[in-house]
Amino acid sequence: MQRLEERVRAAVRDVPDFPKPGIVFKDITPLLLDAALFHEVTDAMADWARAADVTHVVGIESRGFIFGAPVAQALGAGFVPMRKPGKLPGVTVSERYALEYGTDTLEVHADAFTGSRGVMIVDDVLATGGTAAAACRLVARAGGTVVLCGFLMELGFLDGRSLMGDRRVDCLLRY
Ligand code: AMP
Repeated sequence: MQRLEERVRAAVRDVPDFPKPGIVFKDITPLLLDAALFHEVTDAMADWARAADVTHVVGIESRGFIFGAPVAQALGAGFVPMRKPGKLPGVTVSERYALEYGTDTLEVHADAFTGSRGVMIVDDVLATGGTAAAACRLVARAGGTVVLCGFLMELGFLDGRSLMGDRRVDCLLRY
């Protein structure tokens, strides 16, 4: 049997020029269709946190939900959705961050990290790192402590890690 990394690489589809010209979109939907592989992936991501006392897993809308929720379940941790503006019904804390063109905002419930010890942030792709860095700032402002950020894949040529400072970052695949 091939290594997990190779099987995952084979299950991620490159879609050129989506959603706009020049972007090669990493489509995870073939991976999600393979129940056993999907399970193995989220178990492997949960393993990164085994020694880290993670009580809360944050999933970044929306593909971070797909991976984050099973990771939280595997760890016996709570799951916290980090959402686009206006989606969460309670009192929220929000963080605006720069995109290539314009800005975007993420929100989280202000009380989501009550009683937390360690927080793990999960998303599918670490690209420029802007989203994940904003997610880290937002968790801190909401009173949580990020102990690691886990991604299915990292687009190394965009050097998202440099925006993550000295935070721990784990990825299954690197492009
Ligand atoms: P960034 O803030 O640049 O690190 O972008 C990260 C966010 O954009 C993640 O939520 C990803 O899901 C998404 N993303 C960025 N680049 C890609 C790509 N090439 N393929 C799929 N998703 C991407």
